[in-house]
Amino acid sequence: MQLGDLELYLLIAGHWKADGGLMFGVVPKVMWEKKRAADGNNMIDMACVGLIARIDGRVVVCETGIGTKLDEKRARQVALREPEGLLHSLRKVGIAPDEVDAVITTHLHWDHAGGLTRRDERGGLELTFKKARHFIQRSEWDFALHPDQRSQSAYYQEDFTPLADGNRVVELLDGDTEVLPGVHVRHVGGHTPGSQVIVFRSGELACAVTGDLVCQTPHLRVPWTMAADLDPLRVLEQKARLFEEAERHRWLLVLSHEPDQPAGYLEEGGRWSPERRLS
Ligand SMILES: [Zn+2]
Repeated sequence: MQLGDLELYLLIAGHWKADGGLMFGVVPKVMWEKKRAADGNNMIDMACVGLIARIDGRVVVCETGIGTKLDEKRARQVALREPEGLLHSLRKVGIAPDEVDAVITTHLHWDHAGGLTRRDERGGLELTFKKARHFIQRSEWDFALHPDQRSQSAYYQEDFTPLADGNRVVELLDGDTEVLPGVHVRHVGGHTPGSQVIVFRSGELACAVTGDLVCQTPHLRVPWTMAADLDPLRVLEQKARLFEEAERHRWLLVLSHEPDQPAGYLEEGGRWSPERRLS
């Protein structure tokens, strides 16, 4: 869809399942299961959602999903489907990987950064987007390289360490930055130390890729946060701030793991109004 000068396409980088308790934290199951059905293993449906944007002749990819490197056992555990969704979504709109100018991931957890790299023919690692600049918060990069014990299983080093080998492939950011004209990142932290929300602007119009600050539509309630958040109070604060702006200025929001209605507008009273033109 067109949003001012921006050409935006939804990126669905795969489908999978995650533990419902992990997704809804302190919210009792009797409440969240009215919104999301859990299977026999207490798992709920998830998508890896991102955005492809053309702005000023440049192609920007936000989020890369789980990617194609999971071993069979892990892929089965998380019921991974369509792991090639990242490149498939690009192909659908006629963009080849080498035409991508910038890649922005909200953070470096395995389900967001997995698509940054892939296996080459000899089983080594290669960058998915060889000609792109990759924008990551420095605090996220440092933490991902040396995660605490609780976070170790959420960062796969093979997803992002190859970025450090190239020359000027990765650009580490210190807080809020306009990485390209009209493309802003906002350092929100909370879920991880360096989590960022990506905001595209064209005049008065804006579209925000929320990352795990807002995973699914039930998370549009400010207190409904993930068990995995490292700093839950900061998440509450940043969510409230984002929602206030999004509602007041009618920002288009793209939610990180919403399988059914991932893009839309937050209306008064927390109602979600899906934007079906973004596909
Ligand atoms: Zn996630």
